[in-house]
Amino acid sequence: MNILIAGGGLAGTMAAKALRELDPGAAVTVLDEERHRYYPRPNLIEFLAGRLPFEKVFAFPEGWAAKQGIDLRLGQTVARLRPAERTAETGSGEILSYDALLLATGARAALPPVPGTGLPGVFVLRTLDDALALAEHLRERRRTVVLGGGLLGLEIARAVRGRGGEVIVVEFFDRLLPRQLDPAAAGILKAQFERLGVAVVLGAATQEILGGADGAVRGLKLASGAEIAADGVVVAAGVRPETAVAREAGLAVGKGIVVDDRMRTSAPGV
Ligand SMILES: Cc1cc2nc3c(=O)[nH]c(=O)nc-3n(C[C@H](O)[C@H](O)[C@H](O)COP(=O)(O)OP(=O)(O)OC[C@H]3O[C@@H](n4cnc5c(N)ncnc54)[C@H](O)[C@@H]3O)c2cc1C
Repeated sequence: MNILIAGGGLAGTMAAKALRELDPGAAVTVLDEERHRYYPRPNLIEFLAGRLPFEKVFAFPEGWAAKQGIDLRLGQTVARLRPAERTAETGSGEILSYDALLLATGARAALPPVPGTGLPGVFVLRTLDDALALAEHLRERRRTVVLGGGLLGLEIARAVRGRGGEVIVVEFFDRLLPRQLDPAAAGILKAQFERLGVAVVLGAATQEILGGADGAVRGLKLASGAEIAADGVVVAAGVRPETAVAREAGLAVGKGIVVDDRMRTSAPGV
């Protein structure tokens, strides 16, 4: 059995591990576009807060995949699928054949449709490289706006605050964790964050991320016309499923890749 896995995040890595345990003879290949081996993404918060050193971010020691007989190819993408031929083309043009293909391409950080998200000093937190870039930025910058008062935004705010910087959370809805909490509970949470020294601005639609004369972020303009000064903005506005390869190959795709109750896509073997 020749199994190809696109994506070496939690799903792809744990599937490879389970497949190896179930079938010691299977050929298991994992391609991941990141340059780092698998790490649980929640560790990025601990790393950012300075509570977890870089080498402890990873789930398994260096060389673990090879020891398991898993052919892990970092920095490589599955660029195209030809399900009828059971082949996949990598980003570098190599054709790989498979008996079964697992699409474990996960999600990307979503960016809101406001001007300025491409400015230097605007960050998301999805990958280890995102965390490294943000940590580097925070060495010298002191005033950060976190766009989004959901779970991830609040975790980021707490981590950045823990490093000593000023933090302002800007949330579109009228309360924090709008998907999880009712107004009373959200009020208690807001008070707790304020006690930690995190400022919270609610009911605030962002109109634009503002750039300064040097081209880098200088703050945020709200729909109300108010401006919030900041030398960094972290966008925590949810994720969008990574479905490009599946869609291009003609697989059924809705909000995500459509599967049946046995996780089979509309293409045989995928
Ligand atoms: C900072 C942070 C904290 C979090 N905390 C929690 C938490 O406390 N609890 C919780 O339940 N969840 C948490 N999450 C969410 C959790 O991390 C995700 O649900 C989980 O990562 C999903 O795993 P996945 O393998 O499905 O996808 P992903 O983690 O998105 O992995 C997909 C991988 O596929 C790769 N890829 C994409 N396209 C291709 C391609 N074409 N070819 C090759 N590789 C490709 C990507 O580079 C990526 O490495 C957190 C997320 C973040 C960012």
